[in-house]
Amino acid sequence: MNEKRGLLIGRIQPLHNGHIKVIQETLKEVDEIIIGIGSAEKSHTDSNPFTGGERILMLSKALREYNVDASKYYIIPLEDISCNSLWVGHVKMLTPPFSKVYSGNSLVKQLFKENNITVIQPPLFNRTEYSGTEVRRRMLNDEDWHSLVPKSVVKVIEEIKGVQRIQNLHKKEVSELNNKKL
Ligand code: ATP
Ligand code: MG
Repeated sequence: MNEKRGLLIGRIQPLHNGHIKVIQETLKEVDEIIIGIGSAEKSHTDSNPFTGGERILMLSKALREYNVDASKYYIIPLEDISCNSLWVGHVKMLTPPFSKVYSGNSLVKQLFKENNITVIQPPLFNRTEYSGTEVRRRMLNDEDWHSLVPKSVVKVIEEIKGVQRIQNLHKKEVSELNNKKL
């Protein structure tokens, strides 16, 4: 019997409780899940502070924390390419075969649909808080972000001094902006 595999793509900057929930829910519908880490080559910017490798670490530690069976998922880094029209082929080249894509991103949905691949939009859980943008905003402003991510992700971010990185990157961007104004 063919296994039913689903593909979920996220930049995971960083991994938060919404990602865990959608992975758990998707695993009720498919035999295996492929987690594609989008923009895997990007790091050290305001919206993409963490490297592809750091995000792999967050995912594998958090999935272990939540007792997700390691034989049920694949973590695949997906680098960006400049041609949207070739992107689905690029993703298919790097991932195990899949029959469905789980995404809420409108461009991702359109590109897969144009390639006759079924796209399902999973519900968003507590989206005002469980959002990468909100976690990064709280890290930058020294507000509570621990409650939005798994404990194992707090440990990884502490290990790599992630909050300091985000705050330093932001200071650098602000000072560069000010210099340009002069
Ligand atoms: P950012 O604000 O940095 O874009 P994000 O929270 O949107 O981060 P991404 O890493 O961009 O997260 O991943 C996007 C995918 O993760 C979505 O297509 C969706 O499937 C899933 N996702 C993100 N947040 C949630 C949530 N709160 N509940 C359920 N799924 C979520
Ligand atoms: Mg997003």
